[in-house]
Amino acid sequence: MLIALASVLSSGWHGAFRNVLADLRFAWDQRQASGEIVVVAIDASSIEKIGIWPWPRRLHAELLRKLENAGVRDIAFDVDFSAPSDPASDQEFVEALRGAGGSVVLPSFKQPGAVSGNPNALHINRPLKQFSDKELSDIARKIQRLELTPAGTEGFKKAEVTAGGIATSELSSRTMEAKRVPGLYFIGEVVDVTGQLGGYNFQWAWASGYAAGQHA
Ligand SMILES: Cc1cc2nc3c(=O)[nH]c(=O)nc-3n(C[C@H](O)[C@H](O)[C@H](O)COP(=O)(O)OP(=O)(O)OC[C@H]3O[C@@H](n4cnc5c(N)ncnc54)[C@H](O)[C@@H]3O)c2cc1C
Repeated sequence: MLIALASVLSSGWHGAFRNVLADLRFAWDQRQASGEIVVVAIDASSIEKIGIWPWPRRLHAELLRKLENAGVRDIAFDVDFSAPSDPASDQEFVEALRGAGGSVVLPSFKQPGAVSGNPNALHINRPLKQFSDKELSDIARKIQRLELTPAGTEGFKKAEVTAGGIATSELSSRTMEAKRVPGLYFIGEVVDVTGQLGGYNFQWAWASGYAAGQHA
């Protein structure tokens, strides 16, 4: 029995097996469709109107409460909840789901998507799991300790700033004039100053140019 179970699990047949069982179960316990399930979907004009994605979940929370107040017992969202909106809003939806008296179904989407070079791989989007405070601090700790080691550079062709040039010790920091050659000024990237990405190199080029321009 155990060997049979292990071979079913390892062969991937368990998915097909589960489907057969589900079919049998529904065939055995048949009932008329109540017609009372409300399916919530989003149309293109609403997406345009709200203007951001994902929508703040408080909108879904509000809708859920309205449907509940209108007496709807079964609600299915045809909405991709796999990405977070904003924390307060996400929490509001969690509370609305918790408070819902009837049943609420959130979907998972099975989509084709190349994963690790496998073009036939399937990607499953599930509603975002809400993490506990402990899980969140564990994740934060792991991210804070994450160390990345660059594997290399893309070479001079892609370089955005050069390092190495005229030594700053040879220049007046006020006027950018060369100490040894009066009347000769150096500014910007030709000087031995390298900033991180983020505008520091532009700032240095403009500021040193301005300083030299005041005296040259
Ligand atoms: C792809 C790329 C992206 C970058 N992105 C950023 C960024 O996001 N933020 C940031 O802060 N920095 C960035 N930098 C760096 C920044 O552009 C430079 O540090 C800054 O422009 C240097 O200014 P500069 O005036 O010293 O030199 P340059 O801007 O290089 O000016 C030198 C000028 O001298 C001219 N010249 C050269 N030889 C002669 C000659 N013989 N006669 C006459 N003229 C000559 C050149 O044509 C050029 O116009 C980037 C650089 C690159 C290449």
